[in-house]
Formats: sequence, C-alpha cells, structure tokens
Amino acid sequence: MINQHILKELESIVGKGDILTEKEDRICYSYDATTLKFLPDAILFPENAMEISRILKIANREKIPVFPRGAGSGFSGGSLPVKGGIVLATSKMDLILELDEENLTIVVEPGVVTERLQKFVESRRLFYPPDPASLKFSTIGGNIAECAGGPRAVKYGVTKDYVLGLEVVLPTGEILSTGVKTVKSVAGYDLTKLMVGSEGTLGIITKAILKLIPLPETKNTLLVLFKNIDNAAVAVKNIIKAKIIPSTLEFMDSSTIKCIEEYLHLGLPKETGALLLIEVDGFREAVEIEKNKISEVCKSLNPLDIKIAVDPQEQEKLWEARRAVSPAIGKLSPSKINEDITVPRNKIPEMLRKTYKIADDFKLNIVCFGHAGDGNIHVNIMTDRENKEEMERVEKAVKRLFSETLELGGTISGEHGIGLTKAPYLKMELGEIGYSTMKKIKELFDPNNILNPGKMFL
Ligand SMILES: Cc1cc2nc3c(=O)[nH]c(=O)nc-3n(C[C@H](O)[C@H](O)[C@H](O)COP(=O)(O)OP(=O)(O)OC[C@H]3O[C@@H](n4cnc5c(N)ncnc54)[C@H](O)[C@@H]3O)c2cc1C
Repeated sequence: MINQHILKELESIVGKGDILTEKEDRICYSYDATTLKFLPDAILFPENAMEISRILKIANREKIPVFPRGAGSGFSGGSLPVKGGIVLATSKMDLILELDEENLTIVVEPGVVTERLQKFVESRRLFYPPDPASLKFSTIGGNIAECAGGPRAVKYGVTKDYVLGLEVVLPTGEILSTGVKTVKSVAGYDLTKLMVGSEGTLGIITKAILKLIPLPETKNTLLVLFKNIDNAAVAVKNIIKAKIIPSTLEFMDSSTIKCIEEYLHLGLPKETGALLLIEVDGFREAVEIEKNKISEVCKSLNPLDIKIAVDPQEQEKLWEARRAVSPAIGKLSPSKINEDITVPRNKIPEMLRKTYKIADDFKLNIVCFGHAGDGNIHVNIMTDRENKEEMERVEKAVKRLFSETLELGGTISGEHGIGLTKAPYLKMELGEIGYSTMKKIKELFDPNNILNPGKMFL
C-alpha cells in the first residue's frame, strides 16, 4: 500500500480531484479486456508531461510500480496493475494539438480516442489508416504502445508506419523527444520505433507526431461465401497473385459464421464454411477494375454467394457480420482466451488445420477469424477461467499453438502484444540472445523496474 504521506505528495501534483483511492474506484481500474483483475492502490489522472515526470520521480524514489493505462482495452493484460501501485490514466490528456496540412502530420496527446482522430482528419479529406477493431474506445497512446493493427494493415501497414516522433517521459522522470516531422530522419538510433510497441515498459508517451495520407476517393466492399476454408485461402492467394492489394481482406471460419448467424440472423446459407470480407479503395476507376478482378478470381472458385456493396450504407451492412464477431462468440462461454498468432499468409490453411487438431486433442472449443491478408489469425479459445481443469488444458493448448506457429515461420502476437499473458512464451520466439538483449534495454531505461513491472519479461 502507498502510505498517506506519499498519497498527499502525489495529490499535490495532479490536484485533489485527479487521484482516486476508494475501493470502488480502484476496482474500475483493476481489469482490461482479458478480464483478469489486479487492484491498484491509486489511480492518477495527470494533465501533462511535467506532472508525469514528477510522479515518476516519486515512484522511483519510493519504488512504487506505475502502470500506464489508456482505455484498458488491451488483450494481453498490458495495463493491469499486477503489483498494486499506481495506475496512470491518460484520459485527461486528450487534445488534438496541431494539424499540419502542408506536411501531412498531426500532433496529438495520448488519450485521444482512435476514432475521434480518424473522424477529425477524414473531415479534411485526410487519412490515418491504423484501424484496430477497438477504435471506438482505444486510445492513440495505447495503440502506439501496442503497435496496434487492424483490417487495413494488409495495404496500409500498422501503427508504427504512421508514428514520426514522440514525446516520452522516461521511467526516471526525464522527458525525451524522439523523431521529427519529416518522413526522412536517420540521426542516430531510431528511438521512436523502439518506443512503438514497447507496451508501456520503457516510457510514458505524452505526445505523438503522426503521419497522415490523402483519404482514398472511394471504396467498394465484397462479401464472398465459400463452402470451405481451402477455397477461401486459394481466393486470397489468387487475389494477391493478380497484383491486387485490397485495403482489407478478412476471413471467418465456419464456427464463427455459425455464431454470427445465431446472433444476427443474416440468412447466410447453412453450408457456408468460410467467408471473406474484402475491401478495395483508391481512385474510382482503379477501384472498379480491382473489384471486377477480385470478383472474377472468386467466381472461378465456386463461391456460394458474392455480395458487392458500392455505397456506404450497403458497405456498413456487409461489415455488420465482422463487427458482431466479438459479441456473437462471447455468448459461447463465460470467458475466452484470444490469441493473435500470425503466419505467412500462404500458411493460413495449414495453421488452421493445426489449430483445429489442437482443439480436438485438448477437447476445447476454438473459433477462428482474422486478417487473411496479413496472416493474422484470431484463435479464440472459448472457456471458463473458473474451471481449473479446463484452464490446465488451455495452457497446454496455447503452448502447442505457439510452437506450431513458430515452426511455420510466424509470430506469437501480430497485434495484441506480450503484456502479462504471453510473457511466459516470449523467449520461445526470441531465443536467449534476443530475449536478454531486450531485457537489457528495459534495465537501461528503467533501472528500478518501476514502469509496468511484470510485463513482457518474467
Ligand atoms: C473488442 C476489441 C477489439 C480489438 N481489436 C484490436 C485490433 O483489431 N487490433 C489491435 O491491434 N488490437 C485490438 N484490440 C486490443 C486493444 O484495443 C489494443 O491493444 C489497443 O491498442 C489498446 O489501447 P488502449 O488505449 O485500450 O490501451 P490499454 O489497454 O489501456 O493499454 C495497452 C498497453 O499500452 C500501455 N499504454 C497505454 N497508454 C500508454 C501511454 N500513453 N504510454 C505508454 N504506454 C501506454 C499500457 O501500459 C499497456 O501496456 C482489441 C480489443 C478489444 C477489446
């Protein structure tokens, strides 16, 4: 517990209204999307980098752990206060500071919600592509810390491709500026890239310079239903072979489709074994050509149905199924373990077969969907965290899942990060030298291990 004297000192930094210590408030900041729970001692709501710097100096002096938190929507337990201490919430730092339409950059504070930023720039016909499915509530700080990706990653890349510079408060309280507004900069090590995806273990992001691009003129959406996942996979391969990079290329397996159908009653044919949701964007003429080519590729593989949407309302309807995935599958069990393995995209069918075998071997209910364009498979193990015996099987299944993913040349996390839940497996992917090099970087930045301890490294 943090003693009263220190709490008073922290209160003098943020102000009386911006520190919470009551149990009911602490419970609200004890969990994230993993549904794991750890109670913090206090929650602070700083308003700027200077306040955060002062907080971190005290935390260092007193060896109090500090856990940065955006919206708490993380799927790997990154923001959980696993050792008590302080949750440092960024919700009061939510200003859009500067839009530069000549250099196509924008400067924002970390607490800005992703969708707010996107709507703001789109109203000026500019585009910030990273689109995690959580964009209605996740924050830019959380997106940068996790290097969030989304359906558009296949064409536009992920968060790291749009971060030009950062202001970061280091664990020792010093304030670091990285990067510049230009696309080119090779002055020394790329500290910006080091911070992106560092999951709040190396510093607290207090400002970000982001790159923007022009908003595509138009987009078309195609929903293609196949009898089986193999045909869907061939379609993905052939679309790319036809030299088309769609802006999204999403898939769902038969179990996910069944859940969606039960949830939304969309009237999808019973025999649907796989579904692709494909979007192309750009100049009108190019979009037309690409849409037709994709349609031809899919038709040659005997789809059950192809629906094409050109206007925004119809497109929204086709996206309905994709957006309903989380709530629809959430009805299957009290909790779910959501892994986000990623393999080279031509290995998706093989990885799915391996995953279903794991489900059989460990008698688990697993549903899969994800981003076919970039090989990112969301493997959802539908379970009950309270069932100890089942959780033991889940743990073994996850280990085998990761091991088979790595054998296929993949990664244990495409976008959710390592955080708490994947920390035991990080070494499997990095090896001894990779792991110890990263740990040394953490020790260099955070000698007292006060910032997000217990995350990434065991
Ligand atoms: C329904 C749903 C759908 C999702 N879909 C996607 C998806 O498509 N793609 C994807 O990538 N993720 C997805 N996620 C996961 C999650 O939304 C992302 O990881 C997101 O980037 C987290 O943002 P947040 O603001 O909630 O961060 P939090 O969960 O609060 O924190 C995440 C990590 O960032 C750190 N952090 C937060 N703010 C800062 C800061 N200012 N400085 C330093 N560190 C900080 C925290 O300590 C923690 O380690 C999804 C989650 C849900 C619940």
